[in-house]
Parts: sequence; C-alpha cells; structure tokens
Amino acid sequence: MSKRRISRQQRWRIEKIQSERSERARRRAADTEAALSEGELGDEQTGIVVSHFGQQLDVEGQTGKQQRCHVRSNIDGLVTGDQVIWRPGKPTGVVVAREPRRSLLSRPDNFNRLKPVAANIDRIVIVIAPEPLAHANLIDRYLVAAEHSDITPVLLLNKSDLIDPEGNASLLNMVQRYRDIGYDVLTASCASEGGLSDLKALLDGHISAFVGQSGVGKSSLVNALLPGTDSRVGALSEATAKGRHTTTTARLYHFPGGGSLIDSPGIREFALWNLEPEQVLQGFKEFRPFIGLCRFRDCQHQQEPGCALREAVEGGDITAQRFASYQQIIASISGD
Ligand code: GDP
Ligand code: ZN
Repeated sequence: MSKRRISRQQRWRIEKIQSERSERARRRAADTEAALSEGELGDEQTGIVVSHFGQQLDVEGQTGKQQRCHVRSNIDGLVTGDQVIWRPGKPTGVVVAREPRRSLLSRPDNFNRLKPVAANIDRIVIVIAPEPLAHANLIDRYLVAAEHSDITPVLLLNKSDLIDPEGNASLLNMVQRYRDIGYDVLTASCASEGGLSDLKALLDGHISAFVGQSGVGKSSLVNALLPGTDSRVGALSEATAKGRHTTTTARLYHFPGGGSLIDSPGIREFALWNLEPEQVLQGFKEFRPFIGLCRFRDCQHQQEPGCALREAVEGGDITAQRFASYQQIIASISGD
C-alpha cells in the first residue's frame, strides 16, 4: 500500500514539475517576443555561442564582448560553436537566427538519443602519449569518429620529453604507420621549453577539440595554452568517477596565439560513441579504394574468398594492424 502511495506522490510531483517547466518556457517565449516587438533590443549582428545552459546562452559579438541571451522559440538546439544572428539587450539579448553549420558533433544522451554537443569544430586533436601508452585500437576509434563527423583529425604525441627512441620503438613505428596513411602527427611537450610551438601553429585559424584517454595530458595542454583557465590537471576524470559535480556544458575559448578550443568532459571522450558497421568501414580511410570490390556484395571481410580488403592487406596497401583493428571494432559493436 505504501508503495502505491509513493508512486502516486511521485507521479504528482513529476506532473507538477513538468507543468511548471512548460509554464516557464511559455513565459520566456512571451517575454522574448515582447522584447523583440517593442524594439528594446539593439541592431542585429553576428556572433558565436561560447557556452550554453538550458534555454540560455552566452554569445560573443564581433567586438569580442559576451552577453547572456535568450533564444527565439523557433530556433532549436543551439550549441556551443554555433554562429548566430543576435540582438543585444538589457539585461539579456536575443538570438534570432542560426547560420548554417560546417560540422556538428553529437553524442547519445542517457536515453540513447543523439544530442548535438558542439558545432563548427574543424579539427580534432587526438592526444596520445608514451604514458599511458597509446593503443592503436583506441586511436582508430577516434579516427573513425572524426572521419564520420567530417572533421579533420590530427594526432598529437604529447609528453615527447619522456620518449626514448629505443624504449619507445614500437610507439614510434605505430606513429609512422599513421603518417604513411596520410594523417598529420605532431609532437608536443608540456614539460619542456618551446614544446608547444608546433601545436600552437596548428591551432591558429581553426576551432579545435582535444580528445584522448585520461592521463595523456589534455588538461595540462589546455592550461599551458590558455593561462587562467581552470582545467584541473588530473582532476577531471577523478571528479566524474566520484559523481561530483563537473561542468558538462561545452565552452569555447580563444587561444592567445590564434585559434579557438571547444572543450568539455563529454567532448574529450567522444570516440566511444556508437557507430554503424558501414560507418566504421568508411572511417578507415585507406580502405576506401577497395570498398565495393569484394566478390560477394554482402562480404563481411572475414574469411570469404575474393575479399578485396584482405587482398589489399596481402598486397601491402592496408596494414595488418589496421585491418585487425577494424575487425576488433566491428566485433565490439556487434556484441560478438
Ligand atoms: P588528462 O587526463 O588527459 O587531462 O591529463 P593531465 O593533463 O591531467 O595529465 C596527466 C599527467 O601527465 C599529469 O601528471 C601531468 O603533469 C603529466 N603531463 C602532462 N603533459 C606532460 C608532458 O608533456 N610531459 C610530461 N613529462 N608529463 C606530462
Ligand atoms: Zn570483403
């Protein structure tokens, strides 16, 4: 009996919360429209969303000044990085339109619905290191995800101060294999003077995101490149693991040396999201010339005769490591 009473109470509370929420949304939309029609707002101008929380955004205008804004009710799903048309106001401005996006990063929410996270990122910097040692399969997952989002990936070998050419021969060979495929690989060090100069040059003129496993140095890089930003070294994953509050919303920062970063805990781990087998195949970019050439149209690229991909491995056009990595990802997503 008490069970039923609790559930009735819960249902009542949920309904109350929902009706309050939709009432607030209605009021906000009415206020926004009233401000627009009464001409209390400044002239339309372009801007970029630098962070978003629920129904409100911070927009940076052309002068570099930022303002909290409401969003006109007919614009859906604005995210950090979106370019918008907005009108300044007191105390809040209003976003009236969104420009077309060059790219969109999405990830599944707790209910497995794909949600946009950040727009207009044009470079994904996959950070790897000798410690924790980089694994090719994880790098390949990041690469596949980047290729799928139409965002240029770049590998960044961080902690280069810890690299010893003999002890790290297999890491250096692996890095060379990515160069051979056509990916750019940079080295960096947060621990040595001038260790970030190549990276700074790469970041200039782009909107980038850093991804990579915990411990490779993403927070250290952000701190070194953005002095004054509180990206706590070694603290991020720990805080998340313990369920403490961490900022999950993506935020856009400008590097003093040029270029911008969109960063959030969710973006840093973006490659681990679900992908379809066909997307995985297309994400191995050196496989593309051979896709569709197998003898059987439904070739699974396992043991079938006349598999063009296996022949490419035998002929040296695809490395055995990348082919094994492809099969491993396919097996993991099909639950084998
Ligand atoms: P994140 O988990 O990817 O954000 O990694 P952190 O930035 O928290 O760094 C993990 C550890 O690696 C910390 O102890 C850093 O001091 C160290 N670290 C980061 N970059 C470098 C580097 O270039 N060289 C060396 N030797 N240590 C580094
Ligand atoms: Zn095949």
